[in-house]
Amino acid sequence: MTELKNITVLGTGVLGSQIAYQTAYCGFDVVAYDINDDVLEIAKSRFDTLAATYKAENVAGAAEGKADAALQRITYSSDLAQAVIKADLVIEAIPEDLGIKRDTYEKLSEVAPAHTIFATNSSTLLPSDLKAFTGRPEKFLALHFANHVWVNNTAEVMGTTSTDPAVYRAVVKFAESINMVPIELKKEKAGYVLNSLLVPLLNAASDLLTDGIADPEMIDKTWRIGTGAPVGPFQIMDIVGLTTVYNISTQGGEKQREFADYIKKNYIDQGKLGAGVGEGFYNYKA
Ligand code: NAD
Repeated sequence: MTELKNITVLGTGVLGSQIAYQTAYCGFDVVAYDINDDVLEIAKSRFDTLAATYKAENVAGAAEGKADAALQRITYSSDLAQAVIKADLVIEAIPEDLGIKRDTYEKLSEVAPAHTIFATNSSTLLPSDLKAFTGRPEKFLALHFANHVWVNNTAEVMGTTSTDPAVYRAVVKFAESINMVPIELKKEKAGYVLNSLLVPLLNAASDLLTDGIADPEMIDKTWRIGTGAPVGPFQIMDIVGLTTVYNISTQGGEKQREFADYIKKNYIDQGKLGAGVGEGFYNYKA
């Protein structure tokens, strides 16, 4: 398997922009693809913001020119065929919608070079839901990043039964080369490893709250002191953002929908959307 050098990222939203920037930061040439040039203009400002964030958060080398150099290694395209013409690896981070992903993979399979590996960053769709559309199931797998890739640097690598083991190893190596910690899954699992652990914790915490057993502060304190973890479940929800927590909860069972109503009434409707806006379960403004 040849080295994966030229990387194309499809989608320049929350995660796609972070994946593209982190990859460029680690010395790779990256093509950032999105649906039109207006969206790509927004992507440019996302990359500028990421460069500033890497400097502000003292990511190694950021202040010594690496953050700005990364911006020079990113090129932009809204033409799919052009975007992937040299790609060894395409990382897909487009919306979590089967129809959109299907359409994109069908087009991609026709225009990408035969050697190109495709990786999906999908959080809830399994790669086996998508592999039939790729035209190359043996060169397709999931490479799943966490939000804030420069600090939360897990990259979960999950193949299907069709994925070539050599492709899997090449993607694990690539993940390491962009300063990720590869988390190798032996088989497909909805939620990967991280969300398989995290979601039950957050659901248990939300039940304790809506059942009136304890307040967020008390629940978080219990988790921190009892396990040595740096943050508790409600602090995690504040970091994720309560709109996202709400959206996920509305799609769950009865207890989760009850929690969705609770956070809408008590937090979201009052503009308390989480750490990003300075207030959620906790007030960060002080
Ligand atoms: P987002 O909505 O922020 O960004 C999606 C981007 O894809 C946008 O720039 C949009 O213009 C673009 N897009 C829309 N249609 C497209 C198309 N047909 N072709 C190419 N690009 C298209 O979404 P996101 O939060 O970055 O999520 C993207 C993927 O990453 C999803 O599969 C999601 O499950 C996964 N993911 C998200 C997170 C997260 O915390 N946001 C974490 C891990 C994985």
